[in-house]
Amino acid sequence: MPKGISGRETKTTCVEYWVTKGYSRENAEDALREHQRKNVSKVKKASEENQKSKITLNQTFGKWVVKTLDFKSGEQLGLIGKQSTWFVQVTCVCGFEKHVAIRSLVSGRSNGCKTCVKARGESHSKWNGYKDLSGRYYGQVKEHAKRAKRTFNISKKFMYDLFEKQNRCCALSGIALTWGDASLDRIDSTVGYEKHNVQWVHKKLNQMKSDTPINEFLDWCVKVSNFQQSV
Ligand SMILES: [Zn+2]
Repeated sequence: MPKGISGRETKTTCVEYWVTKGYSRENAEDALREHQRKNVSKVKKASEENQKSKITLNQTFGKWVVKTLDFKSGEQLGLIGKQSTWFVQVTCVCGFEKHVAIRSLVSGRSNGCKTCVKARGESHSKWNGYKDLSGRYYGQVKEHAKRAKRTFNISKKFMYDLFEKQNRCCALSGIALTWGDASLDRIDSTVGYEKHNVQWVHKKLNQMKSDTPINEFLDWCVKVSNFQQSV
């Protein structure tokens, strides 16, 4: 062993070592470079395997779900400056698909598509329900009224209290309602959302009633019911 070379690390990274292996000084430099290149790709390969091993099928990272183990390097995705970063395809709860860097998922830096992450923040700061009436439903009714240029003078509390006052039952059919099938009906459809003009009905009935004046609608109901019972 040439003088000054000791230990495994120094050995192979020193030109002298390659000279002792029978290379000429010029070839020894090439051999060293080749050795270093192989070593780098070995390290890269190891880190790639290590990254991939952190991901399993159906794993969730916030709103992201790993539905397929589709790994791609930044190089394969054509990302300049991120060639050696590893990405995996994930699907957001809204269905949006994207290749996200594994380290962003593992660190929690990425936890859903931009739209969903933003929407969640907004809903948290802006919307609140009243007891078990969702702020979302209230917002929908309000938005609907606004678009149809109808007056809207009811609060979440009023809507909730009215539901309780009706014993959580449909004002037209008397059947039990859940928030999922309850719909706020305007009794006189020429008037907006005013306290004296609203009632909770089953959404199916509200669809059928549509803009029909309540007396006319009930009249039709009686006609249908009477005729069906007589045949
Ligand atoms: Zn999303």
